[in-house]
Amino acid sequence: MTDWPRLRADLDLVEGYHSPQLDVTVRLNTNESPYPPPPGWWDEVHAALASVPFHRYPDRGAGALRDAIAGLHGVRAEQVFPANGSNEVLQSLLLAYGGPGRTALSFEPTYALHSHIAQLTGTAVAEEEREQDFTLDRQRAVGAVKRWQPAITFLCSPNNPTGRVEPPEVVHALLEAGCGLLVVDEAYGQFSGWSALDVVADDVPLVVTRTYSKTWAMAGVRLGYAVGPERIMAGLDRVALPYHLDVVKQVAGRVALGYHAEMEARVGALVAERERLAAQLALLPVETWPSGANFILFRPRPRKGAEVWQALVERSILVRNCANWPRLEGCLRVTVGTPEEDDAFLAALKEILA
Ligand SMILES: *Cc1c(COP(=O)(O)O)cnc(C)c1O
Repeated sequence: MTDWPRLRADLDLVEGYHSPQLDVTVRLNTNESPYPPPPGWWDEVHAALASVPFHRYPDRGAGALRDAIAGLHGVRAEQVFPANGSNEVLQSLLLAYGGPGRTALSFEPTYALHSHIAQLTGTAVAEEEREQDFTLDRQRAVGAVKRWQPAITFLCSPNNPTGRVEPPEVVHALLEAGCGLLVVDEAYGQFSGWSALDVVADDVPLVVTRTYSKTWAMAGVRLGYAVGPERIMAGLDRVALPYHLDVVKQVAGRVALGYHAEMEARVGALVAERERLAAQLALLPVETWPSGANFILFRPRPRKGAEVWQALVERSILVRNCANWPRLEGCLRVTVGTPEEDDAFLAALKEILA
């Protein structure tokens, strides 16, 4: 009998990431951009790749990419850390500043990967509650910090999956309370008004994470980054694998930033479409919450969320099924798509709820 290697005991209870990749006509489940990047972007990437020495390792420090991101945000290159998607940024933050004997604090419901990756890195997780309407009470948040003394505190703004934007007062209150390293996940930052990037400085323990996956329409590239104090970013370089960013990605990410106006136009169109979708949902028997992102959380009435999800799949429309997530009983989350995709979703939902 083979004595099979056993999984780390502390991973036994950790569930994987579940978002089914089904073959459907209308995909509104993972908050990707419904539009591809501009054609000019690919032409430029293609041209730049022609002179790349593929037999050589890429620039380990991803200097040109860091410079471009720093330029975009008006910070220094030393205040930027790029990685393979913002999920790898989060993992690096937890490896460097979390780990065994330390606690990461999150306010639920929020992006599941914050606590998930924390567990993978042996970081203890403290989950505190949001209010019924998914806002975060400042006093309660400060109380949680005092109670848990976290090494890392996570915020997500706009919050996935609720769509709520975290006001600046909450960020300041948490920093003043001594919340450890404050990580504000702004995967959807460009869809909303204010950004915690305004607060980033070398003497503030605050890191903002961003991704190319949503607003930059580049989920397939797997690129994200952190902006924060130079000394914190230096710590992230300590846990990154050598040459973790391949040469194609470095070029693709740098070139994309030259298409900032196109990105903003796309984001503007999606925000307008989000408002149209929200107005249409308001006419149906569903509960919704205000969103500052490119998705809307909703709870169908009276039919069960899980049944509605299945009925949508049968009509070749895929949304995110949050129906059995704690605190989100019966909820579904729909990504803002093209007007045609959203109309198909609305028509199907109307029919299902009739
Ligand atoms: C989509 C998403 C990410 C994922 O980012 P990648 O860059 O694709 O790894 C990070 N945080 C939140 C809140 C997200 O919704």
